[in-house]
Amino acid sequence: MAELGSESTAHTIGVGILRDLKVLADVRYVYRPKKTLGIEPREAAEHHAKIAARALKEALTKAKISIDDLDVVAFSVGPGLGPCLRIGATMARFISSYYKIPLYPVHHGIGHVEIASQFLKMKDPMVILVSGGHTSIIGFSDGRWRVYGETLDITVGNLLDSFAREAGIPFPGGPKVEKLALKGSKYIEMPYNIKGNNVIYSGLLTYSVSLLGKHKLEDICFSLQETAFSALVEASERALVQLGKKEIAITGGVARNNYLFSKFKKLEELHNVRVDRVEPKYNDDNGVQIAVVGYLYAKSGYPPIDPGNAYIKQRIRLEEVEIPWRD
Ligand code: AMP
Ligand code: MG
Repeated sequence: MAELGSESTAHTIGVGILRDLKVLADVRYVYRPKKTLGIEPREAAEHHAKIAARALKEALTKAKISIDDLDVVAFSVGPGLGPCLRIGATMARFISSYYKIPLYPVHHGIGHVEIASQFLKMKDPMVILVSGGHTSIIGFSDGRWRVYGETLDITVGNLLDSFAREAGIPFPGGPKVEKLALKGSKYIEMPYNIKGNNVIYSGLLTYSVSLLGKHKLEDICFSLQETAFSALVEASERALVQLGKKEIAITGGVARNNYLFSKFKKLEELHNVRVDRVEPKYNDDNGVQIAVVGYLYAKSGYPPIDPGNAYIKQRIRLEEVEIPWRD
């Protein structure tokens, strides 16, 4: 089975082509804000619209496949930025209706969850989804991927990016904060907020921004990471004990962070679980993760959607999505 996935929730327009979960092509173009330090949805969508056809052509060439040989077309249906989502959805709808190929809308977060789960060959993981759009502790139960803990305000990616922006670091700030933190050594006490299995980050953002100019930037980055990541690991550890899962997959853009990963790794011995993440490039947004889910839908015999009804859903939640390929 040959499957194509299109991704365009935010900064990345991506086209991935797989054959039975083997990656044949993974083309991505990332929009970088021109004037501001954060994403401008309309400007990002313009970027995607200009590049979509080229990305599709490149992916087909790389995969050495003709468009009418595709068996499945999948697109990121949400959550994400409306203007951006519409570009990838339009491309997928066109391919599906013109070439009569079954079409599947895919929840972007489930793309992150399943690429980790499938590529790491984990059967029933607890998934920590950490990105610009999500900070969620997820497990599968009773037909759905369900959220057992999450941020009650901003995401961890947003926390790092927003702090970075205030410090004059352009988007995405996370990688730069990680580098600076490596040179920090002094821990500055910061607001540490957990409610149940949930984390709260806005107080931490305000506080760390208020320290700019008063402490070394490296020390603020170090303390910010230490505080934010400790809270997330503590919340995850609680959920882990409740759920009794034996595998933990860390996924999403912030999963690239080595310090965060090392903190989660400590749970291996403490709780006798396996902790892992996919290779770094698959933690970023990409079309491959969308194609993975398209494949899972098709293989399970789930009915495709009529291209005329393939609307985007900017605010779709993870639990809303039926998961027919797991039991
Ligand atoms: P996504 O939303 O999945 O595209 O992931 C993008 C987010 O991941 C942005 O918030 C980035 O700042 C963040 N990110 C990427 N690499 C790192 C890193 N090494 N450390 C922390 N955050 C990162
Ligand atoms: Mg993402």
